[in-house]
Amino acid sequence: MTSEVLDPVVGGDERILPPEYELNEAEPEHCPGPESEMAGKADACDGCANKEICESLPKGPDPDIPLITDNLSGIDHKILILSGKGGVGKSTFTTMLSWALSADEDLQVGAMDLDICGPSLPHMLGCTQEVIHESNSGWTPVYVADNLATMSIQFMLPEDDSAIIWRGSKKNQLIKKFLKDVEWDRLDYLVIDTPPGTSDEHISINKFMQDSGIDGALIVTTPQEVALLDVRKEIDFCRKAGINILGLVENMSGFVCPNCKGESQIFKPTTGGGKALCEEMNIKFLGSVPLDPRIGKCADFGESFLDNYPDSPASIAVLDVVESLRDAVGDV
Ligand code: SF4
Repeated sequence: MTSEVLDPVVGGDERILPPEYELNEAEPEHCPGPESEMAGKADACDGCANKEICESLPKGPDPDIPLITDNLSGIDHKILILSGKGGVGKSTFTTMLSWALSADEDLQVGAMDLDICGPSLPHMLGCTQEVIHESNSGWTPVYVADNLATMSIQFMLPEDDSAIIWRGSKKNQLIKKFLKDVEWDRLDYLVIDTPPGTSDEHISINKFMQDSGIDGALIVTTPQEVALLDVRKEIDFCRKAGINILGLVENMSGFVCPNCKGESQIFKPTTGGGKALCEEMNIKFLGSVPLDPRIGKCADFGESFLDNYPDSPASIAVLDVVESLRDAVGDV
């Protein structure tokens, strides 16, 4: 089997793209989607530079869906990590969840970074210098540990700071590659870190994994009402999109001083916080994780907070959440 380092996918405005990514030019507002039945025919298509291309694109069932389903068939549990708002520590939590699951040597874990414009898992998992290898059978994910693999567009950037300026169809093509062509092999858990909110990535992955089966979504929030407002929208999105909600985690839930162990509230739960919201919206509360400044430090250095500070109340809380999550997917 031949194996070679994958060429960079994109470099700022100078995009170096494999031909299959070059579907069309940037879609205008109100584009129905180049892969939709209305592509090239909708009102928004009139005057669009892509009209001719979109009219000629094949319509009907997406032929990639069976390929995706086949490639993911060895994965027991597929979990989306969502947040209504940015800045609630979703990627940090995804990282801690990945470390925590993989601490069980009997589990095989994958962490997919679906935040295409703001990838951060490689940094937090301490593997930014790795590159993706392509072989005859697909893309090999980066192994952070024997039983923890990850995939992110960050591995394909020519520079760490290169911007990814992509819209719908290009993002969709990459998401499909992550699902269809990455050799995930057999996994107990695939955790998928998504961007904040309800955007292209969320709609696309739900569509692409329609036959693979997503166990559900874990929603991360912080306690204050301004974050919960957006969580309500996220919950509404999941319900409309038919995504099972496994539960909600309240992150940055109080602050535990690493020195005196005293607790204080940084983000006050003025309307009752995540737990009250769960009761109101009838979803499972998976637990709360307090702030610990060493979490950010470990993320910056790509180290496992759980390994470095196992006695921290935050580490204990994360492990409790993992137990609740495993219970929610029927794994314990
Ligand atoms: S022609 Fe294609 S890209 Fe342009 S609006 Fe229609 S579907 Fe979108």
